[in-house]
Amino acid sequence: MVRKNKDNTITFPCIICDVDIVSSLPLDEKSNNTNDVLDKLMWNDGGVDKFSLNYGSIHDSNVYAIGICDKCLKKLKKDKKILFLYNYMGYYNDDEKNILDEEFTGLENADTKR
Ligand SMILES: [Zn+2]
Repeated sequence: MVRKNKDNTITFPCIICDVDIVSSLPLDEKSNNTNDVLDKLMWNDGGVDKFSLNYGSIHDSNVYAIGICDKCLKKLKKDKKILFLYNYMGYYNDDEKNILDEEFTGLENADTKR
């Protein structure tokens, strides 16, 4: 459950394991608008972000917020259920570089997979 804590931090559950992901800084404002709040927070050991689906989904154009902890994201990457695309800050560590080199550039057609 998403909640605002007494110290003005926000807690959001991991979508996979349900662990609490807590914002690293308290809100410095009184806003209770979730959309505004999510744009301004940093998180510990995971993150919360927005996503939407494109035309073709019954959820087309809806914007959702999900939380995922670092451990679950790492496992999803290892299991190849999520794809690392790029780092928007322009850098990546060696682990991400390997993923970039091996997975992102290594997309295969299903019929050619061995
Ligand atoms: Zn998790």
